[in-house]
Amino acid sequence: MDTRITSETALITPSAGILRARHGWRAKCLQRLIRMDLPVPRSFALPCETVSAIAAGRPLPVEDLRKVFDGGSGLVSVRPSAVMPEWGGPGTVLNVGINDALHAELSARMGAANADAIYLAFVQSYAINIARLDPDMFHHEGDGALSRALAAFEAEMDEPFPQDPARQLAEVLRSMARAWDGPTARLLRQAKGAPADAPLGLVIQEMALGLGPGLCGSGTIQFADPVTGTPRVTGRFRGQSHGTAVGAGAETLYLTRDERGPSLEDVSPETFADLIRFGIAARERLREEMLIEFVVTDGQVSVIDATRLARTSRAGVRIAVSLARDGVIPPEEALMRVEPRALADLLHHQVDPRAPRDLITRGINASPGAATGRIVLTAAAAQAANARGEPCILVRRETVPEDIRGMHASVAVLTERGGTTSHAAVIARGLGLPCIVGANGIRIDLRNRTLIAGGRELREGDEITIDGSSGEVLAGAAALLPPALDDNFTQLLAWADEAGGIGVRANADTPEDALVARRFEAQGIGLCRTEHMFFDGERLPAMREMIFADSPDDRRLALARILPMQREDFTRLFEIMAGLPVTIRLFDPPLHEFLPHDREGLRELAESMDMPLSDVTRRVDALSEFNPMLGMRGVRLGITMPEIYDMQARAIFEATVDASRKGDPVVPEIMIPLVSAMREVELVKTRIDAVASAVRNERRTEFTYKLGVMVETPRAALRAGDIAAHSAFLSFGTNDLTQMTYGLSRDDAGRFMGTYVSQGVYSEDPFHVLDQDGVGELLLTGAQRARRQSPHITISVCGEHGGNPESIAFCHDAGFDYVSCSPFRVPIARLAAAQSAIRGRLTGDFD
Ligand code: PEP
Ligand code: MG
Repeated sequence: MDTRITSETALITPSAGILRARHGWRAKCLQRLIRMDLPVPRSFALPCETVSAIAAGRPLPVEDLRKVFDGGSGLVSVRPSAVMPEWGGPGTVLNVGINDALHAELSARMGAANADAIYLAFVQSYAINIARLDPDMFHHEGDGALSRALAAFEAEMDEPFPQDPARQLAEVLRSMARAWDGPTARLLRQAKGAPADAPLGLVIQEMALGLGPGLCGSGTIQFADPVTGTPRVTGRFRGQSHGTAVGAGAETLYLTRDERGPSLEDVSPETFADLIRFGIAARERLREEMLIEFVVTDGQVSVIDATRLARTSRAGVRIAVSLARDGVIPPEEALMRVEPRALADLLHHQVDPRAPRDLITRGINASPGAATGRIVLTAAAAQAANARGEPCILVRRETVPEDIRGMHASVAVLTERGGTTSHAAVIARGLGLPCIVGANGIRIDLRNRTLIAGGRELREGDEITIDGSSGEVLAGAAALLPPALDDNFTQLLAWADEAGGIGVRANADTPEDALVARRFEAQGIGLCRTEHMFFDGERLPAMREMIFADSPDDRRLALARILPMQREDFTRLFEIMAGLPVTIRLFDPPLHEFLPHDREGLRELAESMDMPLSDVTRRVDALSEFNPMLGMRGVRLGITMPEIYDMQARAIFEATVDASRKGDPVVPEIMIPLVSAMREVELVKTRIDAVASAVRNERRTEFTYKLGVMVETPRAALRAGDIAAHSAFLSFGTNDLTQMTYGLSRDDAGRFMGTYVSQGVYSEDPFHVLDQDGVGELLLTGAQRARRQSPHITISVCGEHGGNPESIAFCHDAGFDYVSCSPFRVPIARLAAAQSAIRGRLTGDFD
């Protein structure tokens, strides 16, 4: 390959054929700035193929490189120019070309101190980064530092410091090309999403030194706040007093008028006005919020580089929306620029990225947001703290359904065990509480009321901060940013809905959840897990009575006490959802979850049931199962103890009648969990139809309802064709379906998931991101068989994957009707749905 500088290295001009794919983003960006007539110093682009050839050992024609130094300051910089800015690259090398002769000339023009500073900086950088000499030998400072550095170089290399600028440049280019090719750089860029063989271009730029009689110096300027995205001019300017160059006599100025000190705006309003003008032009033409690097020479600005402004998620939303509002980009592009997951950072408090973090330990980031509170080790302690008005964080080995009230009373949850679909994770996401699970590094000592974490001992009552977005547990109260559910957020989601795409419903169990679902504009409730309603105050005793009943009649009696409360729950949900669809799942969990596990709890239960402790213990033992997740739960319970589903169906229908009388007509959707055989559906359907007829007769009114099936077992997916014959809808419960497809307990997977993912056994946690190859195939097969039987059957996903952007894209491409996820993930899902639709239109796929 030809590496001759003249043929391969293009001078960047408005008309040169500079391509991002061939020369990298920086070269392309500089060309755009030049096309805008911004004052960019003479720049050259070395194409990626040449850089690869140099890395492979092709010689560099030193003679040709000499041309780069013609005219100008005699100094050049070399910067990396990867295809994508986030892929990074080797560090910039400045002041290439300085030698004894130029040093003497600069000393005369700008003073020895400045010339020394430039030469010394280059010798040090060349010795360490290019010649790869020991950095410890090049820490020279003070008087004579330059001569000592030059002498050290000569002693180490057995030759004087290279004086030929072209040779210096050749060595710099070779070193940067090789650095990019090295194993560390490959790993680093792969971590940033770049392919291992991603190419690198290089940009050589004549250096503007900032020399002259008037205002001189260098700085950066940005036009939006990187944390909030608010329009605001900030940056820094290191000015050179009395016409001296970068280095000596420097004075830092604020950019805008500032009471803390002098500003560029006051010192040189014309220079400041130029910078603002360039900033506006760059934003409009580069269609992005930029950070501009500049040099000022005698009041004249040179723009030496412009990069995309690094920003937080909340700033990202605000910037994308304001670019679209200003007509710089179309709304669809604004939608595509925001990472859906980033919206989670706007919904909750966040640890301020500028604040210090005292890290104690890490776990799995199970529910986003941040909160500070005092450690409590039991649900009862959480409720007590809440009653005292003290924010608290519930720290448990793992949570169990009885902890629900403790979770409600806490501002965040931390568990030692569990994965992304463990009880703590699912409930916390539903409640919008920051949560970390699987924090293997903590040990809870309930007897001493302490917590050992990261080698420290914390006591119940000590203050910690949970960062559920990053999975970090911090000591003390970290500085938090408030949620940012502002006008920009609302606008972005309004555009998302206009883009169309798969429907988004919420998983909502309580009126509070339903209110959040409405606030985030879910199109309905896709999953109401009714069992959570049974843990509340007076319901638990009735539930336990039902479990202990000896006969169906006794069971019915206990259930009759729960019926009015269930009816009330459903009426409230229907009212809040105001005619939007509500899918209610019939009772699902194994009954033992409602029973106490410890001796004290059993004793209390015996007392409240007025039974001998031995009887209670015997009954509890009888209910225990080896693997309750595969035992008597879901529809199996519904068929074995049909009174439970009868009661629930009655509560749903009575609520339907009540709510329809007061407001919009309600058509409830009833969903049967854990089905694996068509006959299960037939049996339940017959009984529910009978309850519906009874309620119609008693209430002398008509209503309709839809009966559907939750596809959570591999067999249900495979038999979806015949199951569909009896169902108005199918909803894939991908939590259980993943558990059963992998044979992997969702509550225990957290113990080894980290190792499995890091060793590449699984590319991602399959409870978090849908396993498209395995579980996905069951989804596609099930949907296809169901649609062959009933072409218009509604198909959805209501497992946790319903809130995961990649999984939503899969459901969109599969032609499903909607996804349903925790209320706080609804905005993320709405944006992900819009992005899938836009991508589909661009590629001409489905839609
Ligand atoms: C599921 O299994 O995917 C589901 C939504 O139900 P749950 O998480 O309540 O088991
Ligand atoms: Mg399930």
